[in-house]
Amino acid sequence: MKDYILLNCLTNVHFIIFICLFVCICSIDLFARLSQHKGSSEIKMPIKLERKHALPMTLVPIMMALGFVLFKLYTASKITNPETGRVSRINLKPEQELQLGIEAYAQVKKDEASKIIQSGRDVDLVKRVTTKLAAAAAQRATVHYNWEVSVVQSHEKNAFCLPGGKIVVYTGIIPIAQNEAGLATVLGHEMAHATSRHSAERLFRSDITQTLLGGVQGSLAQLDPSQKQAVMAALGAGAKYGSALPFSREQESEADHIGLLYMARAGYDPKEAVAFWQRMDEQIGKGSPPEFLSDHPSHGKRIEQLRKWMPEAEQELAHNRAPAA
Ligand SMILES: [Zn+2]
Repeated sequence: MKDYILLNCLTNVHFIIFICLFVCICSIDLFARLSQHKGSSEIKMPIKLERKHALPMTLVPIMMALGFVLFKLYTASKITNPETGRVSRINLKPEQELQLGIEAYAQVKKDEASKIIQSGRDVDLVKRVTTKLAAAAAQRATVHYNWEVSVVQSHEKNAFCLPGGKIVVYTGIIPIAQNEAGLATVLGHEMAHATSRHSAERLFRSDITQTLLGGVQGSLAQLDPSQKQAVMAALGAGAKYGSALPFSREQESEADHIGLLYMARAGYDPKEAVAFWQRMDEQIGKGSPPEFLSDHPSHGKRIEQLRKWMPEAEQELAHNRAPAA
């Protein structure tokens, strides 16, 4: 029985990670002690000895942080995007993510209560496009979504989809969308962020970044203030451009790709997506970028990538239009 328990422990990666971490920390500490002991018997240079001791000990917090990161990476769920095949790691279950979305949606509805409209041309349009896109998304989805949409009467040119499929559309975006396919471009992109579980992935990356930054901060505690500030500034910039932005470029690109497939599968001409993003670029050129773009950094490659995915999207459109056998 004891052998069985031991075997289980040895095959448990958690256990191995913690043993490695423990051995690393003990080695560092032992090295520091030996350095101090060896030095004291040779030459009387107390200042030099203090530095020898301090250098390896500064590594303990970062080693611990690395151990936690390994642990988090191991315990995270690995998900494969059903549309693109991209593998990502998250540590939220679908129901936890849905709960976050429901809470955020309730807050938005509370804040915009007086401006939410229940009927009219804009509401009909938004609901029609959402219903078609939801059916397109469901064809390959591995998680069931209860899509819900609220239309807010406002000049704001904005639209977003919260985790779990709760959508908010501001009527100001409708004139820029120009037509139903343009609106399908916007909503397809936003719904793709939700079905790809990009928020959960972003939260996980942020958690990893914070853990590492915490470890580095602890390790740098013994450096002088100017050295510490220089290193943290460099790390802060790295963290900002790596994970702290609302969605990473990789996620934006994936949402563009999947959004294009959704709109084509829903029966809209995917070429309208290129026309829509060209109109967005014109808006930026006029110095009035829509709020919708504030979370969506535009870059030169966007239209180029859409053109690259166009044959795949047109196949989806043709397949969708083909009469059932
Ligand atoms: Zn986006």
